[in-house]
Amino acid sequence: METKLTAMREILRQRRPAGNRSAPSFEEHTQHQCDAMNKTAGELEDYDCPKCKNKGVIYFVGEDGEIKCRECSCMAIRASMARIRNSGLQNLLDLYTFDRFEAEAPLQRLMKSSAEKYLEDENGGWFFIGGQSGAGKSHICTAIAGELLRRGKAVRYMLWKDESTKIKATINDEDKYDRLIAPLKTVPVLYIDDLFKPVYDDRGMRRQPNPGDISLAFEIINSRYIAGPRGTTIISSEWTMNDLQRVDPATAGRIFQRAQNYCLSIAPGKDRNYRLRRRKA
Ligand SMILES: [Zn+2]
Repeated sequence: METKLTAMREILRQRRPAGNRSAPSFEEHTQHQCDAMNKTAGELEDYDCPKCKNKGVIYFVGEDGEIKCRECSCMAIRASMARIRNSGLQNLLDLYTFDRFEAEAPLQRLMKSSAEKYLEDENGGWFFIGGQSGAGKSHICTAIAGELLRRGKAVRYMLWKDESTKIKATINDEDKYDRLIAPLKTVPVLYIDDLFKPVYDDRGMRRQPNPGDISLAFEIINSRYIAGPRGTTIISSEWTMNDLQRVDPATAGRIFQRAQNYCLSIAPGKDRNYRLRRRKA
């Protein structure tokens, strides 16, 4: 091996024009060209990437000596930002930050400290918060999603009611269905907002989620459960963990197992209502 390398170096040395040892070899010239291309700034916006200088690609010299390019890791972040922008979460990210979360009441203090602890915990797994509407669940989950996004994670926002309706409508078109559901299974961080958004009957009783919703939730949750640490999931829901156990033990069990350290359920109660309290203030 060593002899081979020495022989190669000798060939390269001999290739240089005689009497001009400082002139670059063909390989050096290619590398310089490649470096120059990498130094050129691109025009992509939204996110300032020091790696690719906002071109979205990184050039390198391949084994065959040709300049090739690969996609920069910032493209996943850009795609994620675009998704969040398109989903409408963009405006929420500025609004629903940790700083803006009012954590005076014990419940809100607990919610905030759990979220902060979760973000510090490298093995944090999933984050679940269920129960009482208006307690600030979406606010705290959006703040977590925003922080993960700032850390460069690809985050996908799923507003359950809207996206589940869209996906269920494609149930007879396998390709379309797969196209819609695949990213929800594979994105590194998925934030499901308002899982099984409840529908109330005339008497104000909460209806059970329909079988279509239950099976869709299981399909997504189970894929992410199997993905292990690559399937981080943040969930807000009006259903507590106990409620979910009654809706579908298989889905609830998987959520609980992944989120057990960060699994908050808020019991009903008027004083728990964050929006109500804020309006009075
Ligand atoms: Zn980049």
